[in-house]
Amino acid sequence: MNDPVLVINCGSSSIKYALIAADPDAPRLAGLAERLGGSDARLKGLDSRGEPFERALAGEDHVRALEAILDGLEGQRPGAVGHRIVHGGERFTRATLIDDAVVAAIEETAALAPLHNPANLQGVAATRQLFPELPQVAVFDTAFHQTLPPRAYRYALPEALYRDHGIRRYGFHGTSHAYVSTRADALSSLEGGGWLTAHLGNGCSTAAVRGGRSLDTSMGLTPLEGLVMGTRSGDVDPGLHSHLARRLGWPLERIDEVLNRGSGLLGLSGLTHDMRELEAAAEEGHAGAQLAIEVFCYRVAKSLAALSCALPRLDGIVFTGGIGENSPLVREKVVDHLPHFGLGLDRAANAATVRGREGRIDGRHPAAPRLWVIPTDEEGRIAEETRQLLGGTAP
Ligand code: ADP
Repeated sequence: MNDPVLVINCGSSSIKYALIAADPDAPRLAGLAERLGGSDARLKGLDSRGEPFERALAGEDHVRALEAILDGLEGQRPGAVGHRIVHGGERFTRATLIDDAVVAAIEETAALAPLHNPANLQGVAATRQLFPELPQVAVFDTAFHQTLPPRAYRYALPEALYRDHGIRRYGFHGTSHAYVSTRADALSSLEGGGWLTAHLGNGCSTAAVRGGRSLDTSMGLTPLEGLVMGTRSGDVDPGLHSHLARRLGWPLERIDEVLNRGSGLLGLSGLTHDMRELEAAAEEGHAGAQLAIEVFCYRVAKSLAALSCALPRLDGIVFTGGIGENSPLVREKVVDHLPHFGLGLDRAANAATVRGREGRIDGRHPAAPRLWVIPTDEEGRIAEETRQLLGGTAP
C-alpha cells in the first residue's frame, strides 16, 4: 500500500491527525482540531511547507472537524486510516483491521478505559462514516505490553479479580516504547538489544524491552500507576484511598480527581505541571519546583532500576517524550541516581541533544550501557503498523 496513511488520535473534544506518506522522509501534514463542541473550536497545524496555520471551527462535531481536516490535506487522499486506541485489554495483542465485531470488542474494553476508549471510538465512527471504502486499523497503546509474563502483569490480588474482571497490569505508551526500542536496536546495530525505555512527557512510563518484546512496564491497570507525571501521582500506598475516605471523608470521585489531575509535578510544586517552567522556577530558588524535580528524577531512576530485573543484560537506556527529549537536567539527574549501572554520561553531548535531535549521550566506553535520546514518533509507528497489517507482514 503506497498511499499515505491518515493517523487519527481522537479524544473527547480533540482530534490529532497526521498524514504519513510511505516515504519516511516526505513532509507530513499534521495538526490538531481542539475544543470540539465548544464555541472556540479550532483547527491548527502545519502545511506541507512546514508553515503553521490556524482557523476557527465554529462548534464542530467530530465528523465536521474531520471534513475540515480533509479540506486541509492539500488534495492528498489517504489509502487507509490508523487509529490510536488506548486500551485493547487482553483481546488485542497487535494492530487489527476494524470491522463491526472489533468496534464491539473495543466497546467492551471501555470498562477498563472509560475516559479514553469511547472517545477513540467516536473517531472511528466519524472516519468510517466519511470514508466507508477505506480500510481502518486500530493500533492499541496496550498491545506492545501483551508480551509481559504473568509475574510482571499479575497483581497479588484474589485470582477471581483477574479472571472475572480483567484486573491486571496492562501498560500504556506501547507505540512509543516499541518505536524507540526498535530505533535503539537499529542505531546500535544490535538485534534484540535489552533496553530500558523512559517515555517522559505529561504522561510518563518506563519499559524493559528485549528482542522487540516488552517484558515489564511501569503503568498498570490504568495510566496512573508508576512514575510521577505532570498532574498524576503515580505510585502511592494502596491504603491511601481508604485513609482519605475515612479521615477526610472524601468521596471516590474526589480521590480520583486529586490523584489524576491535582498531583504529580503540579501537586508537589504547587506551581505548574510543566517541566520547562519548573526548571526555570527551580533555578530562581523556588523550593516546591526544586522538590518536584528531585522526586520526579529519583522516581524515574528507581523505576528503571526495578525494571532492570526483567533484562538479562542491559544494552542501554533510551530517553523520549517532551521531557526525555528536551531536558538535559532531568537526564543527568536520572543517570546520577544509577551509579551501579556503570553509565558514563557525556555531559556536553547531553546538553546538546535537545529540540527533536536524536543522539547518543554516553561516553562510548565499550563496556558501558549506551544512553540514547530518541524523539518518539507514535504517529509514524501507527502508520507503519497500519501499512504492514494491510501489506500482510508483521512489524
Ligand atoms: P504529552 O505527554 O502531552 O504528549 P509531551 O511529550 O509534549 O507531552 O511533554 C510535555 C512535557 O515536556 C512538559 O512537561 C514540558 O514542559 C516538557 N518539555 C518540553 N520542552 C522542554 C524543555 N526544553 N525542557 C524541559 N522540559 C520540556
